[in-house]
Amino acid sequence: MTATADFAQCPPVAPEVIAQIKAVVGDAGWSDDELRVTAKLTEWRGKWKGHTPLLVLPKTTEELSQVVKICNAHGVAITPQGGNTGLVGGQIPFGEILVSLERMRAIRDVAPTDDTMVLEAGITLLEAQEIAEKANRFFPLSLAAEGTATVGGVISTNAGGTAVLRYGVTRDLVSGLEVVLPNGEIFNGLKRLRKDNTGYDLKQMFIGAEGTLGIITAASLKLFPVMNSRCVAIVGFETAQKAIDLLGRAKQETGGQVEAFELMGRYGLSLVLKNIPDTREPLEGEYPWYALIEVASGDPDGAEGSMERLLTAAFEEELVVDAAIAQNETQAAAFWRLREEHSAAEKVEGAAWKHDISVPLSQMADYIEKGAAAVEAFLPGARLVTFGHVGDGNVHFNVIVPEGMDAAEFNALRDQGAKVVHDLVHQYEGSISAEHGLGRMKTQEALQYKDPAAVEAMRAIRLALDPKRIMNPHVLF
Ligand code: FAD
Repeated sequence: MTATADFAQCPPVAPEVIAQIKAVVGDAGWSDDELRVTAKLTEWRGKWKGHTPLLVLPKTTEELSQVVKICNAHGVAITPQGGNTGLVGGQIPFGEILVSLERMRAIRDVAPTDDTMVLEAGITLLEAQEIAEKANRFFPLSLAAEGTATVGGVISTNAGGTAVLRYGVTRDLVSGLEVVLPNGEIFNGLKRLRKDNTGYDLKQMFIGAEGTLGIITAASLKLFPVMNSRCVAIVGFETAQKAIDLLGRAKQETGGQVEAFELMGRYGLSLVLKNIPDTREPLEGEYPWYALIEVASGDPDGAEGSMERLLTAAFEEELVVDAAIAQNETQAAAFWRLREEHSAAEKVEGAAWKHDISVPLSQMADYIEKGAAAVEAFLPGARLVTFGHVGDGNVHFNVIVPEGMDAAEFNALRDQGAKVVHDLVHQYEGSISAEHGLGRMKTQEALQYKDPAAVEAMRAIRLALDPKRIMNPHVLF
């Protein structure tokens, strides 16, 4: 889908407004370099290609505050952008001013005693992890796009990633925020406190707001102790329910040491093995379901011991049929690759409808079975790839074009296919966007499922902060 025509366009911006913005940020603070601008207007999979009257690259919060004040005064819309790795198109402007945070990269503070670090929004997630490591601390948020995704972006999408089971989603990792509000005022909430019961916790409002309530310029992030041992295993199961049963045991028996529990169906794994070079079967046999499990401990020998005890008991109870424990970091990385290359392996197979869903964990196996039957009934021969952070009640339930079917014909059925998958998710009291947000892609669809009172409350909050609706106007309600 090249969605240029799908969205309402913003009205043209007057040349004198553009000139005022340029004067505030100076020559380094905007760009019309074609290569640079085009890269920021194009979604990485090529799904959306937008346009903008101006790419603004502020260096400081004060500069950005002035820019937003000008935009507000003239009713000019803004789209904020971090690393442009978002999966629902919210970072691509269609006529809005594009504000990139790429020059806001200062490390404002690292305070190991407080277990916090204060970073500006344009620092990448990988850099944030490295900054924590230098202070002998651990920042647990991790996802495949971490080399490019930014602090501002992951907070604005409330990203999940691979360690949610132990440390929570981004929302749980933020202790304070600095935000330029839609009227240009600066909200200084950069607290380093774990406890602060002095009224509404305003920072929570901006986390997961997808750039609709203001532009995050800096964040105070929580730090954790470095783990001294890690152990990764791949396990084979007869059923998805058995994998979920093992997860329950693992959480209980390791005393909360499980950092990742990623489910993979055989079909998805077979595509990785077929389409991605230098990958190999992790186990001797082939099984309908697999889980990648990572356990971490403060005790230097603790992780491996915990994993061995867990798997021994699981074999005895016939929960698992086969398992391999990584013997070194290279093998652990090879196991992780099998999980992380699922999206790339799917891409080779042609058109796909992606669904990023969550249901209560107790219902997950049932949902997977009924969802597969519903998809097959809707489109016989559709190829289902089910994988993801099942430890968080979240899976990617992706449907690949049946062999021999025309991609255009398949894509024409996308909305009906999504309805089949999402209607069932709704029946299971789940979410149609567990991780990636709504962006431009899912906002309209979400109106069918979201509690009307919640939609009204969200609209009221937005109206109060942004009565002219200048912040990312086509995203969220
Ligand atoms: P962008 O893509 O630039 O923007 C995303 C949204 O945030 C947009 O709506 C934008 O307007 C807004 N925004 C960006 N910066 C700011 C700011 N400073 N202030 C206000 N609004 C802002 N997500 C998960 O949850 N878990 C995963 O495991 C996961 N894996 C992924 C793997 C890959 C390979 C990819 C490409 C994506 C994955 N994602 C995952 C999606 C992930 O949520 C986003 O990629 C990331 O959080 C967005 O960061 P970004 O800096 O690229 O933001």
